[in-house]
Amino acid sequence: MGEWQRALRAEFPIIAGHPELSYLDSAATAQKPQAVLEAVQAYLTTTNANAGRGTYPWANKTTSLVEETRDRVKRFLDDPDPERSAVHFTSGTTDGLRTVARDWLPQLLADGDEMVVPVADHQANIAPWLEVQRQLARQGVHIRVLPMPYQRSSGDYDHRALESVTGPRTRFIAATHVHHVYGGDMNIHRIRRAVGPDAVVCLDAAQSVGHLPVSAAELDVDFIVFSGHKAMALPGSGAVWARQARGPVFTPGGWSGTPNTVGIASLAAALDWLAAAGTDRIERWTVALAARLTDGLRRLDAYEILGCQTSLAADAAVQRRRGIVTFRHRAVDSGDLGFILFSHGFMVRSDNHCQGSAGERTGSVRVSLHVYNTVEEVDRLLSVLTSLG
Ligand code: PMP
Repeated sequence: MGEWQRALRAEFPIIAGHPELSYLDSAATAQKPQAVLEAVQAYLTTTNANAGRGTYPWANKTTSLVEETRDRVKRFLDDPDPERSAVHFTSGTTDGLRTVARDWLPQLLADGDEMVVPVADHQANIAPWLEVQRQLARQGVHIRVLPMPYQRSSGDYDHRALESVTGPRTRFIAATHVHHVYGGDMNIHRIRRAVGPDAVVCLDAAQSVGHLPVSAAELDVDFIVFSGHKAMALPGSGAVWARQARGPVFTPGGWSGTPNTVGIASLAAALDWLAAAGTDRIERWTVALAARLTDGLRRLDAYEILGCQTSLAADAAVQRRRGIVTFRHRAVDSGDLGFILFSHGFMVRSDNHCQGSAGERTGSVRVSLHVYNTVEEVDRLLSVLTSLG
């Protein structure tokens, strides 16, 4: 895969232009390939206009761009029923999850219903659901919130415990595809098995879209919400894909004004780029880099690796971790470690990562990888971490 990766890496001007630096923060935002930069430039210099409003070619082309990008999102997500589903553009995952909560969830829920909230996941996938619970309670509609059960040793949801806490009143499950701190693939297909055929599953795919194949058909979920900027498009772009097969029809309410047409143009180009590169190969590459990093770190007593402990060895039969590795030095503060690593050219995230109330209490360093990262970067990082041990 080396040749394939070298060619792709060269397509990222910010990466190719800074060989002395190492960008290891793609879970925060991904870098953009030349094709995305060119698509933005081409759109703004040839067809920029408002969408859905004009009678002249630039406006019509912009309208078509928005519609075609909806179709691209459906194809990219392996939509099992694109005639029925809907794609709503948002400014990112936070905005998308909030839109599902505000404009759709209250219609689903009745007094005495239950919903599952993933309390150790990203705040963006917790706060909107609790807000709906509070808002409905003010109207006399009481919803029980069941905290998503976790299995600490594997960094996964506890699907067996989920099966035993849910029942016929459990109408809605919020889940995350890849955990933004622990990096685990959360085995979403098991959620459907645990909760039965009728409950609605809303997936926060912020850390999976663009990093691995995401198949709506295979996962059997009802909403997939993601951020464009983490999938190589511009900040301020993102989407909610709604299957429209369970519960009320998703029709985001209100007048939403002018869409982010430049962001949508960038998203179309990013999805095309990712599809051509192959999300399956991107996944294999980043999983191999992450496994190399955990394999090196597990030999250093000074570090504690968060999340799944069963697949730290690079040759483990099943790698549950995707391209995210989060760790702490047992003696050095994580904030300080972030500064030290930058003095060696490594850009990582070091804080407590916007986790919910059941998340980590102390900070940690998160290394998140993408297709432009290399084996040499991981080895260099390991040698700096070893020197700090
Ligand atoms: N969910 C997860 C799992 C995330 O990692 C993030 C971003 N860190 C978000 C939601 C929020 O994404 P955005 O800031 O693009 O809205």
